[in-house]
Amino acid sequence: MTTYVWDYRAEYEAERLDLLDAVETVFNSGQLVLGASVRGFETEFAAYHGAGYCVGVDNGTNAIKLGLQALGVGPGDEVITVSNTAAPTVVAIDGTGATPVFVDVRADDFLMDTSQVAAAITERTKCLLPVHLYGQCVDMAPLKELADQHGLSILEDCAQAHGARQGDTIAGTTGEVAAFSFYPTKVLGAYGDGGATITSDESVAKRLQRLRYYGMDERYYTLETPAHNSRLDEMQAEILRRKLGRLDTYLAGRWAVAQRYEEGLAGTGLELPRTVPGNSHVYYVYVVRHPRRDDIIERLKAYDIQLNISYPWPVHTMTGFAHLGYAAGSLPVTEALATEIFSLPMYPSLSEDLQDKVIHAVREVLASL
Ligand SMILES: *Cc1c(COP(=O)(O)O)cnc(C)c1O
Repeated sequence: MTTYVWDYRAEYEAERLDLLDAVETVFNSGQLVLGASVRGFETEFAAYHGAGYCVGVDNGTNAIKLGLQALGVGPGDEVITVSNTAAPTVVAIDGTGATPVFVDVRADDFLMDTSQVAAAITERTKCLLPVHLYGQCVDMAPLKELADQHGLSILEDCAQAHGARQGDTIAGTTGEVAAFSFYPTKVLGAYGDGGATITSDESVAKRLQRLRYYGMDERYYTLETPAHNSRLDEMQAEILRRKLGRLDTYLAGRWAVAQRYEEGLAGTGLELPRTVPGNSHVYYVYVVRHPRRDDIIERLKAYDIQLNISYPWPVHTMTGFAHLGYAAGSLPVTEALATEIFSLPMYPSLSEDLQDKVIHAVREVLASL
């Protein structure tokens, strides 16, 4: 039987009655779009972060896109981010008409190298977009300082970092806006698509509410374009409300899995994830690194263990982003990583038996190299 890199079915089995009750609650509610469940989830998700407002949207990509638009980002503007991210980060920037500008990542933790940001700022720069990649926060203090100095806004891509912390600060509360995805694999996942933005700026929140709803206000009157239909679905919102109450339990489950890998894979020569001091890592994915990555993956095929690569292609090397003009070699750390990283199975309900199977297989393969 295949061991999957992510599998929600054991969790569903455990939560089935509650989740089916969530569906039943919405079906009986009499309001199937933007009703009590979306409002309830928004209130509770904002409160979890100590943020003023949450605006639910249809997915994480649109959370970023609408978040940028609510901050006034559009054609002619530049947004500084990383190429070592999921493509949707950059698709969302591109979708506003703004130009993504990349800095490289650090070789030890694969996060935005904030020391490169100052040199990337031009008079067209409008926003800094750090990605809290794999589940831990980018160093926010230097970004905040630069943003204040240059009058820029910050949008945090928190699609992989629900509940992650940097010191006492929870991911998503340093910038003006944070964008979350509830794609099923995420640390807080729906049973389908979903996303949200949080902010403590009332006028930005109001703008987000309009942007997801044809640009309209309460009067059914469109105030601004370009606008969207990007509503969070009522049923996903009710499921997310139930699961938000268990988020801290999911995080504990992920920490236990990470701890077991750390002990089981010590001394094998495989480079394990490094947590930056002061960060609390939520391990959305468990990314390891080895110069013979491709040989390892090939040999692991015999053990029927599914592995992922997050991500095999740096965004700036993709055909769809060739127009940005980044030549091969322009982001050397990002490009080197893409050939050496892979992800081991990671989800809170991963059983110890299955995990031990993975650890045993990886140890055997590494010893055989
Ligand atoms: C998943 C993800 C997104 C996009 O979220 P969707 O809900 O799939 O649109 C954006 N950024 C990052 C870093 C992600 O991991």
